[in-house]
Amino acid sequence: CGIVGYVGPRQCVDLIVGGLRKLEYRGYDSAGVAVVGSSGLAVKRAKGKLQNLVNLLGESPLGGCTGIGHTRWATHGRPSDENAHPHSYGGVAVVHNGIIENHLELKEALTGRGHKFRSETDTEIFAHLVADALDAGARDLQAAVRTALQQVKGTYALAVISDKRPDEIVAAKNASPLVVGFGKGESFLASDVPAILEHTRDVVYLEEGELAVLTPGGITLFGKDGEPLARKPRRIEWSA
Ligand code: GLU
Repeated sequence: CGIVGYVGPRQCVDLIVGGLRKLEYRGYDSAGVAVVGSSGLAVKRAKGKLQNLVNLLGESPLGGCTGIGHTRWATHGRPSDENAHPHSYGGVAVVHNGIIENHLELKEALTGRGHKFRSETDTEIFAHLVADALDAGARDLQAAVRTALQQVKGTYALAVISDKRPDEIVAAKNASPLVVGFGKGESFLASDVPAILEHTRDVVYLEEGELAVLTPGGITLFGKDGEPLARKPRRIEWSA
């Protein structure tokens, strides 16, 4: 039930796992991380405690400076390695908190177009929808995520990365919490502030229907109708 994301100059896996640790209090049944690095998109996931993921990463480390991580509280599909997030398809990886209510009909339509699914989750369809939108010529990752969002009904905090846009995370929020953090030459996101407080104190809480594009150079926020928002970060004065 937690999301952490990073884009910037640092190797991000440890930072992301550290952030997920701070969100453990929210409860979870599995965890995972995805990065875009020099060898493209790579994903590691493990059922159970975060330590299982840490052990897996110890055996086969992931390298990359753009990444997203997740702790899952299963709603659709039992807790398992395959159902753990991130879910990926066609070079796109997604983490999601919430429920995609119309996932069955979307899955049926995608299956009809030849898509193969690897999990029982409602979330996986989102990776497929974004990959399809990119294939269909979406201008950029933001446009592809927007096309996918137009098709889903439900609640979400989600974050998406793609091997076609290695320096970018696109995030969106509807009913589940999501906060973005501003750094110097790096940007962060999380479902709650303690996950990133060690790295930045300048944050914006996304509001319903909003979308954020994170790059090392900064964060751009967009409103429900795609209009750019000028919202000043607020400074967190307390300590976790
Ligand atoms: N509905 C998604 C799943 O079951 C996300 C659950 C969550 O919020 O962690 O995989």
